[in-house]
Amino acid sequence: MTERGDYEVVVGIEVHAELATESKVFCGCKTDFGARPNSQTCPVCLGMPGALPVLNRRALEYTIRAGLALNCSIARWTKFDRKNYFYPDLAKGYQISQYDIPIAHDGYIDIEVDGQPKRIRVRRVHLEEETAKLVHAGDDIISSNQSLLDFNRSGIGLIEIVSDADMRSADEARAYLTKLRSILVALGVSDCKMEEGSMRCEANVSVMPKGSKEYGTLAELKNIASFRAVHRAIQYESARQIELVRAGGRVSRETRHWDDARGETAFMRSKEQAADYRYFPEPDLMPLEIAPGWVEEIRSGLPELPDARAARYVGQFGLPTSDAAQIAESRELASFFDSVCDALAKAGQAQAADGPREAAKWLVGDVSAALNAGGIELSQSKLAPELLAELIGLVGSGKISGKIAKSVFEEVFARGVRPGDVVRERGLVQISDAGELAAIVKRVIEANPGPVADYFAGKERAIGFLVGQIMKETRGRANPQETNRILKEELAKRS
Ligand SMILES: [Zn+2]
Repeated sequence: MTERGDYEVVVGIEVHAELATESKVFCGCKTDFGARPNSQTCPVCLGMPGALPVLNRRALEYTIRAGLALNCSIARWTKFDRKNYFYPDLAKGYQISQYDIPIAHDGYIDIEVDGQPKRIRVRRVHLEEETAKLVHAGDDIISSNQSLLDFNRSGIGLIEIVSDADMRSADEARAYLTKLRSILVALGVSDCKMEEGSMRCEANVSVMPKGSKEYGTLAELKNIASFRAVHRAIQYESARQIELVRAGGRVSRETRHWDDARGETAFMRSKEQAADYRYFPEPDLMPLEIAPGWVEEIRSGLPELPDARAARYVGQFGLPTSDAAQIAESRELASFFDSVCDALAKAGQAQAADGPREAAKWLVGDVSAALNAGGIELSQSKLAPELLAELIGLVGSGKISGKIAKSVFEEVFARGVRPGDVVRERGLVQISDAGELAAIVKRVIEANPGPVADYFAGKERAIGFLVGQIMKETRGRANPQETNRILKEELAKRS
């Protein structure tokens, strides 16, 4: 009998990302999210017979930009094709898409899982139009008995990014998606909000005996609404397939629906083959010749991408690699970090050399934790870069201890007040004066003869208790290094 560990999981990912262009891809309608249903429509995006599409140049530029950032080659010549199928969200009965000549092809994304770098190939990036949005009444798609259609989404530019089946675990799939999203957001081509549907993904999952060269039959997983869901869906589906194969069954090629509440996938329909779509060249749009000069112009205008940014943070500020990667991955965190560094440099503090590393520590630590706890984005919080820089300065100059800084941070984060004001109002200035500290240390030693005796009896831990008493007496304001030094000095005098 084979073990579960004798199988390898094979994952390929298709991502759809809505382009952040102001107007739709083949008409001039607006693309604002959340507008009144069917208020941003015209005969083209409603799919009226005879209405003619005109390509949005910006949408093409964004697709090329994405292709270049994903290390793809850009087609010199390309065209659009009709993908024919019937579904209520597609009024024309076909979608304008690209079949055999995508705008970008053969690129890659580098990921890292558990410290292991890996290159995931990107097979193609093509441009197509978004469908209308179906809103199913009822609790879920299976039991729903009526649906509503919103055409505001219909005709928004959409890029489809198809990876090769290079991923071997749910972790790798999540790392790929995280990296892909950070690149697209950094480029400004899509806001990639999974919760608003502007980024969606489908995972093709199959299993094969370890070491095999031949992939198993794949199942395509749909309805995945978060990175967490991607991870869970792949884990569930691969386990299901392994159980099935181990029991002597066969995986069938099908589309399966991920049910996030139940945590399982369910059969939706047998998978269509390309032939089912009867692709043919779109007769209403001219084929496209993409000038190499234009491509180079777009390439030279690419912004700094997350990997390059992370490398710069390591080189320029000496950040630990993991902190640098985590900050660079989020455009919001990265620009906040840059602003904190600017503010630190402007303040010209002597400890500025250490400032960026401290800023990074705050951002990946307390700041991220506070944002997660509140379920908000950095831009929605009251924390401003100048405030964090000021807090770092207070610690760096020895005015407050690192421990006090954490409690000051909580107040700054909650109320957006200046750290210096909190320190003044609450009398939190650190006690570093040797004379003042020595007096407190002596008091504590005299008041605690038991622990002092323990210390002399060789119980090193007793010193922790004494430090705790000093901190209690000073409400945490005693300078920890000084306190330790003076305490040991005073104890030595008594030994
Ligand atoms: Zn329109």
